[in-house]
Amino acid sequence: MRSFVTRFAPSPSGFLHLGHAHSALCAFEAARTAAGHFVLRIEDIDTVRCRPEFEAAIFEDLRWLGLSWEHPVRRQSEHFDDYAKSLKRLNDLGVLYRCFKTRREVMADMVRAPHGVGEVYAGPANKMSTAEEDDRIGAGQPFAWRLSLAAAREVLCTNWERLHFIEEGAGPDGEQGKITARPEILGDVILARKDITTSYHLSVVHDDTLQGINHVVRGVDLFESTHMHVLLQNLLQMPTPIYRHHGLINDDSGKRLAKRNAAASLHTYRKQGLNRQDMHQMLL
Ligand code: GLU
Repeated sequence: MRSFVTRFAPSPSGFLHLGHAHSALCAFEAARTAAGHFVLRIEDIDTVRCRPEFEAAIFEDLRWLGLSWEHPVRRQSEHFDDYAKSLKRLNDLGVLYRCFKTRREVMADMVRAPHGVGEVYAGPANKMSTAEEDDRIGAGQPFAWRLSLAAAREVLCTNWERLHFIEEGAGPDGEQGKITARPEILGDVILARKDITTSYHLSVVHDDTLQGINHVVRGVDLFESTHMHVLLQNLLQMPTPIYRHHGLINDDSGKRLAKRNAAASLHTYRKQGLNRQDMHQMLL
């Protein structure tokens, strides 16, 4: 196995904020401490919201922070075919279904998540008939592909109970060590959006494996997603990396920084004349 390999995977839909910088530094430092590798991945599957100028700003900000990374940088928007292959593998397993529902219809069907904190879509009350499905497809109605947790449970059989990951950081409630994965926290997630042929969950799992990422260092806001990623890795027979979720940066009033909080963007701090050392001190 390649030594320690970790990554920072920003979406170029805005400028990097302090939370991103903290995450990037945590991953970079983890790789450096382990004499391992640090990989950068551009998660730009949403080609409407992601823009080249934000990508350029990300590179510039990270360089300014003093980070360096391996080349070439993987840009997800160049690999839709790859994600389609993983999607097909899941479809061949029989764990996907088409979801024609509008956002509003899905919201109306949300239920409280078992073990989770929020509400999730846990699947349709009744399976759509093939005839109705064919009619809708024929009429050109858009659909998303969702993962059926019920079908996935059947495929994995007793292995479902064994789904787990190793947490080297901490979950929101301080969870550490061997953690049982509970994909039901997120319900029947979308794996290919109506407008995009993939999703965050599918492409992140695909790319972590492809890039040989064996340690995922990222914010605890993605802890719930990890439960789903472990399930996808098992269905796709991909290895599960070790996870290290780190705490989030708060603003002066103790509130979590919003992802697109312009005032807190690195860009703005730099323009105000903050130097790299000050920034490192603020973040680590
Ligand atoms: N692209 C995700 C984000 O910007 C991060 C994905 C990950 O670290 O798994 O929030």
